Amino acid sequence: MLDQTSITAFGHFIGGRVVDRAESGGIDVLDPSTGKIFARLPRGGQAEVDKAVSAARAAFEGGWGEKTALERGRILMRLGTRVTENAGKLAELECRDTGKPMKQARADIAAAARYFEYYGSAADKLHGETIPYTKGMTVMALRVPHGVTGHIIPWNYPAQIFGRSVGGALAAGNACVVKPAEDACLTPLMFSELAVEAGLPAGALNIVCGLGSEAGVALAAHTGINHISFTGSPQTGTAVARAAAENHVPVTLELGGKSPQVIFADADLDEALPVIVNAIVQNAGQTCAAGSRVLIERAIYDDVLARLAERFSKLKTGAGADDLDCGPIVSARQLQRVTQLVEAALADGARVVAKAAMDADAPEGGFYYPPLLLDGAAPESRLARDEVFGPVLAAFPFNDEKDAIRLANATPYGLTASVWTRDGGRQMRCANAVDAGQVFINNYGAGGGIELPFGGMKRSGYGREKAFEGMISFTTIKTVVLKHG
Ligand code: NAD
Repeated sequence: MLDQTSITAFGHFIGGRVVDRAESGGIDVLDPSTGKIFARLPRGGQAEVDKAVSAARAAFEGGWGEKTALERGRILMRLGTRVTENAGKLAELECRDTGKPMKQARADIAAAARYFEYYGSAADKLHGETIPYTKGMTVMALRVPHGVTGHIIPWNYPAQIFGRSVGGALAAGNACVVKPAEDACLTPLMFSELAVEAGLPAGALNIVCGLGSEAGVALAAHTGINHISFTGSPQTGTAVARAAAENHVPVTLELGGKSPQVIFADADLDEALPVIVNAIVQNAGQTCAAGSRVLIERAIYDDVLARLAERFSKLKTGAGADDLDCGPIVSARQLQRVTQLVEAALADGARVVAKAAMDADAPEGGFYYPPLLLDGAAPESRLARDEVFGPVLAAFPFNDEKDAIRLANATPYGLTASVWTRDGGRQMRCANAVDAGQVFINNYGAGGGIELPFGGMKRSGYGREKAFEGMISFTTIKTVVLKHG
C-alpha cells in the first residue's frame, strides 16, 4: 500500500475516483514516530469542495438515492468485509500516519470494519411511524435522509471516526462529503477506494483533503450541505456551528472532554488501576474520551497514587511500529501544546509523581512525550479543566460521595466518566449525578463500543453518533397527512 522508501502522493476522492494526486506541492504528511515525510496530500479549497458537493448531490438525486435500504446495507457490509480483508495493510498505514502502536491501529481498523457492518445491517431496520390522528386520515412520520452530509473529522482516530460518521450517514441514504484532518487521513482515503470495489456508486462518498482553514471552512459554510458532523476542538466546533447556522444547517458536535475516573475506597483496585492507566495512555492520551483526571477518595489517596506511580514508571514509549505502551504525539505542533500545558501546570504548583520511560530504540526526530502522572494541581487550574490531549493524568483527592460528584462535574466538559465502587446504591446515584454522555461503572472503554450511543453534555457538544442513535442523527422526519375518508 505504501512505498517504504519514497513519498507517496495521495489525491482527493471525488465523483468515484482519485483526483489531483499531490505530485508536488500540497501538504506534507509526517510519520510522527520519525518526524520524516512519507506522503503528500493535495491542498483542496473552495473549488474542490464545490465539485465534491455537486458530485454528492448528483448521487443523492440519482443512482445512490434510488438504492433501496437493503441495497445500501449490502454495499456497506461488503465494505466492512473489504476492510477486514485488508486489515493488515490498513493497520500499518494507520500506525505510520498517526504514530499509534500497532495493537491500537489494528483495533481501530477492526472497529472501522465493524461500523460498516453494523450500519450495513441496520440500514433496512430504520423506519418511521404512523400517528393516530382523526378519522379518515392516516398520518405517517417518514424517516428520510438529510441529503448531502458534511463530515469534518480529526486526526486522532481517522479510521474509526470516519467509520462511525460516514457509515451511519450512508446507511440512512445520505451522500457524503468528508474533510479529514491534514495531520492524518490516509486510511479514510483507502476506505474510499475499497468502497468502490464494494459497489458504492460514484459520488455517494467524496473526500476533499486540505487545511481546516481552507477546505474545512469551505465545507462548513457550503450552501449545498444539509447536515454537518464535526469532531474536534471546541473552538473549531464553534466556528463550524456558526458557519452552518448561516445556512440553517443542523450540526452534530463532538468536542472532547476532561473525563473523570472516580475511585471510592471500597473499589476493587486490582481491577481499576490497569484500566485507569490505559484510559489515559491509549493513543498517547489523544482521545476525546481519555480518562485524564483520576479522583481518589482521601482515605486511599496515597496508596492509590503510589500504585499508579509504579505502573506509570513501567510504561514504555516508542515508535508505533514497535508496539509499546505509548506511541508519539501526532505532530510537533501538538507536542508543543502538551509540553506548554504541563509546564504551565508545574509553574502553577502541580507536582510530577511519576514519568514513564522512553524506549532506547525510539527513532530520533519523533514527537515523543512519555506518560506523566501529576498531582497537586488546583481544581480551578487549566490542568484540571482543559484538555491536554496527551498522556498526562492529573490526580485529585475527594472527601465523600458529594465531594466526588462536585469535583467530577467541575469542568466545562461532559463526555464520559468512570466510577469505581462496590456499593450498588452509590453506583446508580453517581451514574445519575455525573454530567457525561457515557458513564461506566467498574469498567471503562474510552468512547465505548460501536453499539453504544456516544456524545457529550455541556461543552463536549451535542447530538449522538455510534449505535442506532447515530444513524438516526443522519435523518429527519417528513410528516405525510393522507386524507382518504
Ligand atoms: P481542530 O478542531 O482544529 O481540527 C479538527 C478538524 O477540523 C480537522 O479536520 C481540521 O482540518 C478541521 N478544521 C480546523 N479548522 C476548521 C475551521 N475553521 N472550519 C472547519 N474545519 C476546520 O483540532 P486540531 O487543531 O487538530 O487539534 C487541536 C485540539 O483539538 C487538540 O489539542 C484537542 O484538544 C482537540 N481535539 C479533539 C478531538 C476530539 O476527538 N474531540 C480530536 C482532535 C482534536
